[in-house]
Amino acid sequence: MTTALSARPQLRHLTAQLDELKRKGTYFHLRVLNGVQEPVSVYDGKQVINLASNNYLGFCNHPKLREAAIQAIKDYGVGPGAVRTIAGTMKIHMELEEKIARFKNVEACVVFQSGFTANAGTVSSILGKDDFILSDELNHASIIDGARLSRAKIKVFRHKDVDHAEELLKEVANEPGRKLIITDGVFSMDGDIGPVDKLADLADKYGAIMMVDDAHASGVLGRNGRGSIDHFNCHGRVDIQVGTLSKAIGAIGGYVCGSKDLIDYLCHRARPFLFSTSHPPSVTATCIAAFDLLESEPERIERLWDNTRYFKGELGRLGFNIGGVTTPASETPITPIIIGDGRLTMDFSRALFDAGLMATGIAFPTVAEGKARIRTIMTSEHTRPQIDQALEILEKTAKKIGISG
Ligand code: PMP
Repeated sequence: MTTALSARPQLRHLTAQLDELKRKGTYFHLRVLNGVQEPVSVYDGKQVINLASNNYLGFCNHPKLREAAIQAIKDYGVGPGAVRTIAGTMKIHMELEEKIARFKNVEACVVFQSGFTANAGTVSSILGKDDFILSDELNHASIIDGARLSRAKIKVFRHKDVDHAEELLKEVANEPGRKLIITDGVFSMDGDIGPVDKLADLADKYGAIMMVDDAHASGVLGRNGRGSIDHFNCHGRVDIQVGTLSKAIGAIGGYVCGSKDLIDYLCHRARPFLFSTSHPPSVTATCIAAFDLLESEPERIERLWDNTRYFKGELGRLGFNIGGVTTPASETPITPIIIGDGRLTMDFSRALFDAGLMATGIAFPTVAEGKARIRTIMTSEHTRPQIDQALEILEKTAKKIGISG
C-alpha cells in the first residue's frame, strides 16, 4: 500500500511561504462551483449571487453554445490528438480563425490555448534582446511574462500616462532595436480603458509596433463587442490585437489578430502554438457559436451596460470607494470596491459569502500592497432584483464589519 506524498524537507520553503500568507490573512481556499456558471450559482454548497465571474454575456451556459459543443463531439470526437503543426489542425479550428478575423476586421487570426499563452507566446516570439518593450505598469501578468521571456529591454510607463510613455520612447528612439508599445484595452483589476488611440498616435510618430490585449474588451466594448480598437475607431492602426475566448465568449482560449504575415510568423515561431496541443473541437465549436451570437443578439451587450451603469451608480450612492481617487476610475462592467488592507478585504469577502454574495477579494501580489479590493463584475444576465439584493448584502455586511460605505 502506498502512502500519499506529503511535503518532504526539500519543499519546506514553500510551506513557510504559505504560513506567511496565513499570518497576513491573504491565504485563500478555492471556492468550488457545483453546477453551471450563472448570476445565482452554488459555490461550496451554498447558493449565492455571483459577482465574481467573467461570464459577461451569460455565454458559459447558453443553450446554443452547449448544443454546438455536443454536436462537435459527435462530428469530431473529444480531442485533436496533436499540436497544430503536427497533426492537430482541424477544419473547425480554421473556421473559427476565419470567423474571428472577419469579426475583428483584420487579415488573419490564430487561436491559442488561452489568453495567457496568446500574450506570452506572441510577445516572447516577435522581439529579441536588442529590442524595447514599452508596457503600462498595470498590464496583465501574461504580457509581463512574455516580455521577460523575449529578453527585450522593458520600459514600464505609469498607468495610462501617454506622456511618460513618450518620454521613455524618446530615450531609446535612436537605438537600432524595434520598439513595441503594449497596453491592455480594459485593465482587469480596475476596469478602466487603456488610451489605445493616443498610444497608437505615439506608435505612428515613432514607428513603433502597437499591441493591445483586449481580453476584457472583447464582447464588451465597440460595435457588437468588437473591442477597444473598434471603440476608439483605430482599425488598421494596431498591429497586434489579442483577445480571449475565456471571458465574454464563455469557453476557453485566446487569439491573436493582425496581418497575414504576423499570423504566419506566430504559427512558425510562437512556442505555445508549436509545443502545446490545440483545443478540443467542442471548445472551438462553442466559440464559433458565441461569435454568431455577438452578431445576432447585440441586446445582450446593451443589457450588460444597463446593469453596469445601475450597479455602479448605486455603489457610489451607498458611499463605497469604487476607484477614481488613489486608484483608476472604472469605466466598464469590472467595478472594484477599494478597501486597501489585504486582511480586511479577505474578511469582507468571506462575510459577503456567508451573507449570500460571491465577490472575490483581491490582494497583493495580484494588486499593489495597500490597494486590496473586492472585485465585482456585472453581467447581462443579472436581474434587477438580484442586483438590488447584492447591493443590500454589500451595504449590511460593510456596516457589520466596520467598512465605511
Ligand atoms: N489578459 C488579461 C487582461 C486578463 O485579464 C486575462 C485573464 N485573467 C488574460 C489576458 C488571460 O486570459 P485567459 O484567462 O484566457 O488565459
